[in-house]
Parts: sequence; C-alpha cells; structure tokens
Amino acid sequence: MSEKIKGLAILGSTGSIGINTLEVVRRHPERFKVVSLAAGANIGLLKKQIREFSPIFVSALTREFELELKRTFGKRLKTGSGADGPIQAACHAEVDMAVSAISGSSGLLPTMAAIRAGKDIALANKETLVMAGPVVMDEVRRSGVRLLPVDSEHSAIFQALAGHNAADVRRIILTASGGPFLKASFKGIKAATPEQALNHPRWKMGRKITVDSATLMNKGLEVIEAAFIFGLPAGKISVFIHPQSIVHSMVEYIDGSIVAQLSTTDMKGPIAYALSYPERIASGISYLDLKGLSLEFKAPDPKRFPCLSLAYDALKAGGTMPAALNAADEVAVEMFLKKRIGFTDIFKVIAGVLDEFKPAAMRSVEDAIEADRLARFKALSLCGAVA
Ligand code: NDP
Ligand code: MG
Repeated sequence: MSEKIKGLAILGSTGSIGINTLEVVRRHPERFKVVSLAAGANIGLLKKQIREFSPIFVSALTREFELELKRTFGKRLKTGSGADGPIQAACHAEVDMAVSAISGSSGLLPTMAAIRAGKDIALANKETLVMAGPVVMDEVRRSGVRLLPVDSEHSAIFQALAGHNAADVRRIILTASGGPFLKASFKGIKAATPEQALNHPRWKMGRKITVDSATLMNKGLEVIEAAFIFGLPAGKISVFIHPQSIVHSMVEYIDGSIVAQLSTTDMKGPIAYALSYPERIASGISYLDLKGLSLEFKAPDPKRFPCLSLAYDALKAGGTMPAALNAADEVAVEMFLKKRIGFTDIFKVIAGVLDEFKPAAMRSVEDAIEADRLARFKALSLCGAVA
C-alpha cells in the first residue's frame, strides 16, 4: 500500500461519477482524503457530502449557493463558486489528484488548471479531450502528471495496453452497448421521446451522456478521446456494438491476439483503478459470473446511428473541428431534452454546424473555447430552424 494518503479534488461530486467516486473513497479511508469538492446546484447532497468527508474547500455553482454553505458550515469551510470555484478546488495545495467529473464543456478549464498545477488527473470528463485534446496532452507531458482514464472503455484499453509496445498495436476496439434504441426501427427512433432516450439498458449516468449513448454520439466522443489519450489515428480505432456491456473494450495486436478487459457494468471499477493505479484495490463492484455468459459483437448501423460517423469525420478534419462537434452536440441534446427538437434532429443540427464550420488550428485552450462559442451560436440558430 502507498505510504502517503492521496489528497483528492472531486469535481462534479454530486453527479453520477462523483457519487461513485465517493463510494470508492468511503471504502478506503486509509488511502484517500477528500481535500475539495466542486458541485453545481444540488446543495442538499453537497451538504451531506461535506458532513461526511470534511473537505477543506468546497465550490458550488452560484455565489448564493456559496453563501448558503458559509451560513451552514461557518468560516472554517473555505468556499468558492462560479467558473473559478472548480479551478480553486482542483488546484488546492493539498490535492494530489483531481477527479474530473463535471459534465460538459465546463470541465475543460478546471481540468487544464489542475494539470498546470501538477495534479494527476482521473479523467471522466471526455469533453476536455474532445475540445482541446492536442493542447491538453501537450500540457500533461510538459507537467509530467499522470492522466488516468475513468471512462470505462479507455480504462479497459489502458489496462489491455499495459506491458505492451505501442508499435505492436494493430487497432483498439471500443465497445458500445448500443443504447435504448439498439433494436428500434428507423421510424421508432425518429419518434423517440426524452423519456425513452434516458432509459439506458445497462448504465445509470447523467442525462447528457445518456442521450449521447442513445444517438451513439457518446461512442463518437470516445473515439476522439481515445485518439488523444493513446495517440492513435482514426483508422486504428474501431467500434463494435456489444449489448451485454461486459467486455469494456479491447486491443488487437499485430500478431492477431486480442486483449480485452471484462467486468460487471459498474463505474466504480474504472474509478477505483484510476484512483489507485498502478495498484488494484477493492472497488465494491460485484464479481463477474462467467457461467452461461454469452458475448455478442456486431458492427454499428450507420443509417440508424449517423452521429458516430460525424465524430470520425471531425477527428479526421482535426484542429478545432472536434470542439465544434462537442458544442453542437451539447446544444442539440439540451434542446432535445427540452422537447424543442426531435431525436433525429440532434444529428441534423450537428451535421448542419459542421458542414459550415471552418476548423482553425488548435494551439491553445482559447482556440477551443472560441470554436465552442461559434458552434453553439450556429447550433442554436439551427435548432430554431428545425423546431
Ligand atoms: P452528471 O450530470 O450526473 O453530473 C455532473 C456533475 O457536474 C454534477 O455534480 C453537477 O452538479 C456538476 N456540474 C455541472 N455543471 C457544473 C458547473 N458549471 N460547475 C460545477 N459543477 C457542475 O454527469 P455524469 O457524472 O454522468 O458525467 C460527468 C462526466 O463524466 C461527463 O463528462 C461524462 O461524459 C463523463 N462520464 C460519465 C460516465 C457515467 O457513467 N456517468 C461514464 C464515462 C464518462 P449538480 O448536479 O450539483 O448541479
Ligand atoms: Mg464510456
């Protein structure tokens, strides 16, 4: 066991990943200490987390929420809010590792700040890499920090790559459950409601990523995330539908061997691995029962799930194109959840944004933020047009 207790910043502590992270931490008080928490608007849960884990610093979405925390916990709790709060939480002097689990593009700046401050990163927020992969990975190398994937597919690939030479990899294979519309007809998908899209058959996750799983855009974002984490071109990244969600992803080597990582479907597994790497710790997930297990794999259907190819195209176009893809998707999913556009309009809006978007070089985080701004603007106007 490591000698020093690892100080953690948990960004997005009240979300699905944040809650699972705290469950892992709860099992291992001898290994982990919660130094800081950053949440959004769920102040009730945040207060419970503060009482249980006694962090030094806590951030909430607004100044009003921050003042409420001050009233409840007094001056001994250091607090923050707004855009700066999660950055302060991530960069606190006692933090060794930041768990990046804020949803959406709001995760980028705190994650980047933590890397610059020399903190190791347990990365759930895939948007950080989709938006600004090249500059984020440059900063990781420059700062000498470890970036450990929490996304289950990337954790699986990371585990399957261990002890091998990068040059021997033929391709990586990301698995996708296929989401709630795996067997739906084109007509059924067209009429899909937010309630149906949010009803994921395997994973319990936040709303945005659950809708992305239904369109397969989540897998598209993961292809881009994988390209940057593992330094691979689009042509070496495949996707297969695997409805059982038992094989979390695989690496195929040039000798024809495929190395896969299997486990039950529970994010506490990859979270625990990221927190304790290179050691393994009890994560609290149930062990896999191999008896009677049957595993299926099939190619995704590009006609019913066209979002996946948009992501491949954005990755190949490079520069700020993935940032535009991410922003357009965030707007389209939000509008779908508000019932302002239909399910298949999500694809139309993103495709419409990317058709007109002129990608610029990705030299800094500011380039990503500017692309994000432009693409959001265009996506909003297209949502008005298809509504
Ligand atoms: P949730 O929607 O469940 O949680 C999001 C968290 O971020 C909440 O704590 C929320 O606070 C907080 N938050 C949102 N906006 C802000 C903001 N502007 N400032 C501070 N905090 C904010 O999402 P998930 O946990 O499902 O996902 C988090 C990230 O992890 C996403 O990037 C997702 O793609 C990725 N991921 C998730 C997986 C999963 O299984 N859930 C799997 C792999 C990756 P509050 O609720 O208090 O408002
Ligand atoms: Mg995933």
